[in-house]
Amino acid sequence: MPALRQAMPEQPASERIKNFHEVALGYSEETAKVEASRCLQCKTAPCRNGCPVEVDIPAFIKLVREGKFAEAALKIKEKNSLPAVCGRVCPQEVQCESLCVLGKKGSPVAIGRLERFCADYEREQTKTAPAPVKRTGDKVAIVGSGPAGLTAAGDLALAGYQVTVFEALHKPAGVLVYGIPEFRLPKSIVAAEVEYIKNLGVELLTNVVVGKTITVDELFEQGYKAVFVGSGAGSPQFLRIPGENLNGVYSANEFLTRTNLMKAYDFPNQQTPIGLGKRVAVVGGGNVAMDSARTALRLGAEKVSLVYRRSEKEMPARHEEVEHAKEEGIDFNMLTNPVKVIGNAEGWVTGLECVKMELGAPDASGRRSPVEIPGSNFVLPVETVVIAIGNTPNPLIPQTTPGLEISRKGTINVDDEGKTAREGVYAGGDIVTGAATVISAMGAGKRAAKAIHEYLSNR
Ligand code: FAD
Ligand code: SF4
Ligand code: SF4
Repeated sequence: MPALRQAMPEQPASERIKNFHEVALGYSEETAKVEASRCLQCKTAPCRNGCPVEVDIPAFIKLVREGKFAEAALKIKEKNSLPAVCGRVCPQEVQCESLCVLGKKGSPVAIGRLERFCADYEREQTKTAPAPVKRTGDKVAIVGSGPAGLTAAGDLALAGYQVTVFEALHKPAGVLVYGIPEFRLPKSIVAAEVEYIKNLGVELLTNVVVGKTITVDELFEQGYKAVFVGSGAGSPQFLRIPGENLNGVYSANEFLTRTNLMKAYDFPNQQTPIGLGKRVAVVGGGNVAMDSARTALRLGAEKVSLVYRRSEKEMPARHEEVEHAKEEGIDFNMLTNPVKVIGNAEGWVTGLECVKMELGAPDASGRRSPVEIPGSNFVLPVETVVIAIGNTPNPLIPQTTPGLEISRKGTINVDDEGKTAREGVYAGGDIVTGAATVISAMGAGKRAAKAIHEYLSNR
């Protein structure tokens, strides 16, 4: 009988809510081989069409089956420079795994888990350093060190360019370090992947805010022949309801940045605590909301309530994260919309007034729009409210870079290859699409790197 899809061992929910260690523990060599043996090695490999960077999935899985784990990791790295990250946070269920033929009859091959296994094996067991590349080409500047910028940087370095990444924060890797929490993506793993990119010859400068410290125009004046903008979508959106300015209301960006990047989770070892009530409401239904809710629980909140205006079916968060959040005891309030943050005389949050919703006709996105049920108002007694309803691009680069074409949403308009309206300037990732995924940002970084190479080769 063919093997079943292999489960991934996890920390039990009752344990993991007390720590920030990784929830999923990864496959053993044996389990990885069993899972790999399920792959039918389809000639047409439909799974590859679901991967934005076209990892050669059957080829790397064949190597896993043969026990050639480090070779499998290198096979993945031919297309994907951050496999340990993607193996953990890619929404595989709607990408590569959604097109696996085995999914039609039962469960698809666990492509993401195998990718994670290979990357972890290579990092821990073999520590393969990339072969040094001669840096003889032109100078290229990358703005932002998130997945889009890092991927573009890695590919351009491999093509021989002198690449410098300019990062506004004091640590590289964008959302991978300041947004996604330790229990889903350990910082040491991100650091190792950043190190890999640096070993390719990429120069990484932190604490440089392009648009303030130096402008895109000045980069060209300094001899950079092309610029890739991967500055992400780091500006939080708010609910615009009364009471949103009370003490105890955070944007998810601030809440997660203070916890992750400023290490509030490690207080008192680190001197940067975060104020948190016993009862916390998190507003939103995406990955950011799920990460905020589960972070609040681990920081010591006694009750964490998720407030989402649509039904669970419409939640954009990954299914696995929703399941994990439920196991951990997050209180799901679906079809519920906040209308007012309530505070006391000293200006601190004491509750979140909400109204119940029902689903009406589908909206422009195809999802059924929620409609308020009159008179259904109620108050959730909470001391902290975290708003996780989406992010928009930071306007700094668009405002300080003449010649770009900017959409009404503040994103930079580009063609299929990432070329902007200004010659020599390319862009990709969340600054182009609005908040999306790690792998789509990486795909954009790859396409732009190829286009920059063509542009610089044909001048
Ligand atoms: P970012 O990762 O945002 O990186 C942009 C970088 O540019 C940042 O480091 C920023 O500091 C820097 N920057 C900005 N402006 C400037 C400037 N002027 N000068 C210099 N540097 C600048 N996606 C998934 O696929 N799976 C998930 O599970 C998932 N979970 C998420 C959880 C959270 C909490 C968040 C916030 C996002 C999540 N995402 C997830 C989305 C994903 O992380 C993003 O789509 C992705 O990181 C976008 O990559 P990017 O390179 O475009 O931008
Ligand atoms: Fe699947 Fe993501 Fe790996 Fe591509 S990078 S094969 S989408 S897990
Ligand atoms: Fe293997 Fe599934 Fe891809 Fe076929 S579609 S090659 S079974 S992973």
